[in-house]
Amino acid sequence: MVPKRKVVPIRPASPKRAPALELAPENLNPYQFALRQFERAADYLSLDAGTRQLLSQPKRQLIVSIPIKMDNKKIRVFTGYRVQHSIARGPSKGGIRFHPGVTLDEVKALAMWMTWKCAVVNIPFGGAKGGITVDPKKLSMDENERLTRRYTSEIAIVLGHDRDIPAPDVYTTPQHMAWIMDTFSMTQGFSTLGVVTGKPIPLGGSAGRNEATAEGCFVAIDEAAKRMRMKLKGATAAVQGFGNAGAHVARFLEEAGAKVVAVSDSRGGVYDKKGLRMELVNAAKEKKGTVTAGRGQKVSNSELLELPVDILVPAALEGVITRENAPRVKARIIAEAANGPTTPDADDILRGNGAVVIPDILANAGGVTVSYFEWVQDLYSFFWDPDMVRTQLERTVRRAYDDVAETARRHDTDLRTGALILAVGRVEEATRLRGLFP
Ligand code: GLU
Repeated sequence: MVPKRKVVPIRPASPKRAPALELAPENLNPYQFALRQFERAADYLSLDAGTRQLLSQPKRQLIVSIPIKMDNKKIRVFTGYRVQHSIARGPSKGGIRFHPGVTLDEVKALAMWMTWKCAVVNIPFGGAKGGITVDPKKLSMDENERLTRRYTSEIAIVLGHDRDIPAPDVYTTPQHMAWIMDTFSMTQGFSTLGVVTGKPIPLGGSAGRNEATAEGCFVAIDEAAKRMRMKLKGATAAVQGFGNAGAHVARFLEEAGAKVVAVSDSRGGVYDKKGLRMELVNAAKEKKGTVTAGRGQKVSNSELLELPVDILVPAALEGVITRENAPRVKARIIAEAANGPTTPDADDILRGNGAVVIPDILANAGGVTVSYFEWVQDLYSFFWDPDMVRTQLERTVRRAYDDVAETARRHDTDLRTGALILAVGRVEEATRLRGLFP
């Protein structure tokens, strides 16, 4: 959730003479901070003005009205988006988010981050993202299905296994992907498995796709810890967000012997400095719909970010670590399972405090990596066993971590900037080699 803006006043040197100065409120628009991150990498790469303009804007933006009949027979119209940021390196790829906070600017930022993410792990995709401004928890299953199907038919003109391939994101599941695959196939007259990833396994889904984001994130944490000589066994961790990414990361950390002391979801969190048991947290979430129903002291989502832990995993939404709370973040490793959880100002503060931020486009790239494997399996109609998926995923993420760390070292900068230099450089190269049409 985007927190309320806060004005941080600066005391003038001499209160009598100088008028009170106020720092401008931090810009929490995700597209604006995606642009700031991009500009930083573009400076390192000395990109010219034209190339900057080309890469900082989405290639296509589609806004659709989605009328559906609710269960009470009344019509409601929702707004949906599909933004394709780049197709320079291949078809565009990226998830679909159902959330009340979805805006065009958010989808534009997420689409741009997908382009960089696919380039960081070096898979042959560009970046896209979609979303509907809706609270899907307030809709029945039937309403969710009608919404997904009508949205798919509205954006079908830009989709295709060789054009643009959606996947799950916040509050969308393999079931939503099944409806997308079916609806798109109906418009074609034949089944096209490769038009969407994150599908249920009987419909051409891949083994290991559900845990892939978390598995990639865990591998990245393991790499960071090794390089810092931090042992995961006995390390303490807090995980914000208990969706597909957060819940599995928490479990993997626990399995590696770390002490997960706090977890949260949209309703708040629980904390136990002796360590929570993920089995019990999962049971509470399953039974009561929230982790807060389980054991442990109650903490808010913002308090969780400031707990004295070794590892912090923001796995919910963007813009949660800001200029305001960053000075109080104590974790030494911050692994961004969410997209865009740290603002650029916060990034500078964390770096200044010596924390290692594993940036989203590396930390959560495991999801799209296994999406790529799923797409390959669909196109070949030949399916891999779980071990093959796991081995290839781990190899991809470790190699990407190495590439990012090496780029950061060469430019004497942090991992985020290193990842962006690597990614923007790869996309720029593809764009340059293709040249401009006509
Ligand atoms: N929504 C996920 C992400 O942000 C997965 C995208 C995909 O698999 O295409 O990376």
